[in-house]
Amino acid sequence: MTKLIRCECGFIARDEREDRVVEMIRGHLASDHPALLPTISRDDLVSWIKIE
Ligand SMILES: [Zn+2]
Repeated sequence: MTKLIRCECGFIARDEREDRVVEMIRGHLASDHPALLPTISRDDLVSWIKIE
């Protein structure tokens, strides 16, 4: 089963492991949406995860 988080800009982080999906989307936020990063907690990111 694949877990994924879809960013509002269209970027998709996808991995089988939840912690890696969260790391991936945090890396994306840091590089593409640095202003958003401090406003989003790890729990928020986990709540965005969808199962594919
Ligand atoms: Zn994005």
